[in-house]
Order: sequence, then structure tokens, then C-alpha cells
Amino acid sequence: MRRMTRFFTLFLAAPLLAAADASVYAQAAPASPARAPFALVLHGGAGTISRATMTPELEKEYRAALTQALVAGHQVLAGGGSSLDAIEAAIHIMEDSPLFNAGKGAVFTSAGKNELDASIMDGSTLHAGSVAGVMHVRHPISLARLVMEKSPHVMMVGSGAEAFGQQNGVELVPESYFFTQRRWDDLQRVQAAEKKGDDAPRDAKFGTVGVVALDRAGRLAAGTSTGGMTNKRWGRVGDAPIIGAGTYANARCAVSGTGHGEFFIRNNVASDICARAEYLRETLEQAATHVVMDKLVRQGGEGGVIAMDDRGNWTMPFNSSGMYRGHIGEDGKPQVWIYRDE
Ligand code: ASP
Repeated sequence: MRRMTRFFTLFLAAPLLAAADASVYAQAAPASPARAPFALVLHGGAGTISRATMTPELEKEYRAALTQALVAGHQVLAGGGSSLDAIEAAIHIMEDSPLFNAGKGAVFTSAGKNELDASIMDGSTLHAGSVAGVMHVRHPISLARLVMEKSPHVMMVGSGAEAFGQQNGVELVPESYFFTQRRWDDLQRVQAAEKKGDDAPRDAKFGTVGVVALDRAGRLAAGTSTGGMTNKRWGRVGDAPIIGAGTYANARCAVSGTGHGEFFIRNNVASDICARAEYLRETLEQAATHVVMDKLVRQGGEGGVIAMDDRGNWTMPFNSSGMYRGHIGEDGKPQVWIYRDE
């Protein structure tokens, strides 16, 4: 199976990707253990991330933040906590960091606002919750979880979602909380390029966060949180809060994605990966590689996913030049990667 995947990646996907000016990378999944171990994988966004545009200081900050999030999730799992709690704990760290396009570091809309989306799904029950277009919520992932656990609904948007959150004790912040100079400068660059009729600068669009976890009880879950895409307008909503597109989990498979959301929505990326694994009996790695490296690439859809199955096998294919990502298993040793060649 692994050889087939390698064959596919090298000989079929590579020319396609070369044509699309993208790169191929799929992380090898470890061999299946006899019993379900607990584990957690995360991403901090995929996109044009290269050593050439990265300073050593910034790289250090990213690695430290990813490590901190991994350790926070691991602590929950090691203590017997649920995959949902681990996901929330790890995503809180990234939502509070200005480095990621989620929570504090959310990108700006064309009107200079921050509109946040998030979702969470419990694979063991198929329960899910999501919010879109919220502007005053410090931790959108927690509001998504409240929607799942304290309402009869799956998805809430805008001021209604915030009113529900307020009733249920979610932490609200003023709009000014989400101002960061870096994201503001990104918006100015993107809008200047748009005025000139140029393509948007490629490095201005990444940073969504997502976590997939398997707990000691064998329960899989997935969560994703984002500010969306720089310069988005008209109340645009991406894939992150769409169950099945940016986030999906069932008893056997859990996925969180990052990338150009419109492609992830049209291809129902997260649930397509789990469906391929189930119906076609593909390994998780085969299923995820097919969707990210073949289907999306053919359409020009840039991005990547993190995915895990109920045995703790995991994979992280992405068709962009980099993806902030990490893994932590039972041994508690955090591993983080940024570029495709590491
Ligand atoms: N998927 C997100 C969106 O389209 C953006 C990202 O992952 O960076 O809203």
C-alpha cells in the first residue's frame, strides 16, 4: 500500500503539482499499534511558507506556539480527558496567539473588520457545532462547542451566535481586541494589489488552526478555527465552520483542513477523505493524499489537512509550499514541522 502511495505521489501527482506551481508532501503514518493509543495532531495553516520569507525569530515563535498547543492537548489526553477537551485546550493557545489566523490573530475583511468562523465535531456521537461571522468572541472554538452541547442546532451565525454565547457564558471581547499590525498590513498589501489588478500576495493568506485528537477511550474528534481569508467581503463564510468541508469526524476518521475554503466546500474535503477510507477501504493516508494532492490540485485548490484514524494512524498532506503542523503521542514528545522538506 505504501509503495502504491509513493508511486502515486511521485509519478502521478508530481507533474500535476509542478504544473500548478505547488509542492508535494505527505507525512508517513506510523505502523498501526495493537491498541488505540491517544494522540493529537494539529495545523496552524497551510500556504506560501518558505525559509526565504521567514526570519529565524519568527520561526522560533511559531515552533514554540505549536509546541505549547501540542503539550496543552497532551496534558488533557494523558489525564484521561476527552478528545473534545484536548482540542479546545490546544486551539485556545493558538486562538490567543497573534501568530495564527484564528482568534487574536484573525485576518481583516475588506471593510477592516474581523469575522471569525469555527467548528467542532465529536466522532463518537456525530454531534457537531459551528459558528460563522462572529466578531466579539475570544475563543470561537468554545462557542462552537456550546452550540453542539447546549443547543438543538449545529450552526449559528453573527449576532445570533453571539447572543447565544453570551447567555451561555462565552467570553466576549471588543472588536479592537483583534487588531494586529501584521494582519492590518496584510490587508493594505492585498487591497493595493487588487487596485493595481495584480494577484493577491500569496503570503497574506494562511494561518487557520485545526486539531484532531484520539483519546484514551478511543474517541476521535476534530476542530477548526479561523479568521477566514484576508479581504473577504459580503459576509463570506469559508470551509472551517462547514461540517464535512473544513471539519469532520466519525468513529473511524477525523479531519481538519486549511486552505482556499471555496475549494474545500465544493469538494466536501474533510468528509470525502473519511468516506473514501470507509467505502473504498483506502488507508487514511491514501484517502487524504488523493483528495489533497490529486482532486484539489487538478482544480487549483491550495491547502492541506491533518487526519487521524481510530488506531492513531495520522497523515498531513498539503499541496502548498508549507504547513505549520505537529504531532504528539502517548510519549509526550512534541514534534513540529513547517516546511515540506523536513
Ligand atoms: N480555510 C480558510 C478559509 O477559507 C482559510 C485558511 O485555511 O487559511 O476561510
